[in-house]
Amino acid sequence: MQFDPNELVNEAIQQLQPYVPGKPEEALRRELGLDKIIKLASNEAPLRLSDAVWERAAAALRDIMRYPDGSGFDLKRKLADKLGVTPDMITLGNGSNDVLLILAQAFAGPGREVLFSQYAFAVYPIAAATVGATAVVVPALDHAHDLIAIQEAITPHTRLVYLANPNNPTGTSFSDDDFLHFMEMAPLHCVVVLDEAYFEFAGHKSGIELLKQFPNLVVTRTFSKAYGMAGLRLGYSVSSPQIAEILNRVRQPFNINSVALAAALAVLDEPNYVKDVVELNAVGLQQLLAGLKALDLPCLPTQANFVAFQAGPRAGEIYDALLREGVIVRPLAGYDMPEYLRVSVGLESENTRFLEALGDILKRQA
Ligand SMILES: *Cc1c(COP(=O)(O)O)cnc(C)c1O
Repeated sequence: MQFDPNELVNEAIQQLQPYVPGKPEEALRRELGLDKIIKLASNEAPLRLSDAVWERAAAALRDIMRYPDGSGFDLKRKLADKLGVTPDMITLGNGSNDVLLILAQAFAGPGREVLFSQYAFAVYPIAAATVGATAVVVPALDHAHDLIAIQEAITPHTRLVYLANPNNPTGTSFSDDDFLHFMEMAPLHCVVVLDEAYFEFAGHKSGIELLKQFPNLVVTRTFSKAYGMAGLRLGYSVSSPQIAEILNRVRQPFNINSVALAAALAVLDEPNYVKDVVELNAVGLQQLLAGLKALDLPCLPTQANFVAFQAGPRAGEIYDALLREGVIVRPLAGYDMPEYLRVSVGLESENTRFLEALGDILKRQA
């Protein structure tokens, strides 16, 4: 008999498609032998962190024969001070993706429903599937989360709701009032996860302010976007201490590495880094929106550090043509948005290069 792991894999995983990340620069370099490549595909911060951060991360490398502080004691204390919460409300993860998964492991599972919007972040269906839960996808409204429809889709079996504000890949947001109303209506038999990966770029209030009022709310944040540390993998959730204690049972004992811990402490000491990233983003986003408008390409309204634009039926060809010009963006066919591409805000020169390459490609197509 032949050994076929595909016959052994559990049903939920059989149906699962792997997460497709933005194409790494190195991959494009290998494939096309290009050297001047810009990556605007994964919503990373376009600015390098300071030497001071680098030095503290590098210093942590000296002791990598030791396990990291599995409790993340210093970082949790520092974050708690900054956020106005207590350290026992924080759960650290290997990226906030890790925390999103831990939440599914803890609260979802076979026979339980996990709710999220159409066009929501791709990790939510993966988290639901890996724990054997039933994923319920609620139709979006103009590509944005429809909080009323999501609330109406809650059943007695719903245990977890994932909401992203702003959402990726659409960049769309919901208002503070609409979210407050959603929480007021959300029954206590489901945990609501508010994913604030792009919080720093958007103008709205944080869900963290509502934690006292709603014990079933969990807010997730990350160091991967405005904090410039995507490569080190560090994110966290803020919740009631009771939920944090449950997550701590599921979490791998050493899910955060010592270099990320050291770097995060250092980044939190940087007086201007996040502010600089956010300011650069505001200007760069206007540059991209104006440029896309000049090319007659409709954009979804965004409050994040990227924009999804409608490139039309030939979006796939445009994506490939941009690659050949050394510009990496993100195709959204995997999100069931085949006519859209998503571009992250880069440095001014990178935005310019993207817009020029795109303009040339459209001219050639015409
Ligand atoms: C980028 C992103 C995250 C953060 O992922 P990390 O694992 O922290 O790097 C979480 N949620 C959304 C919606 C994102 O786009």
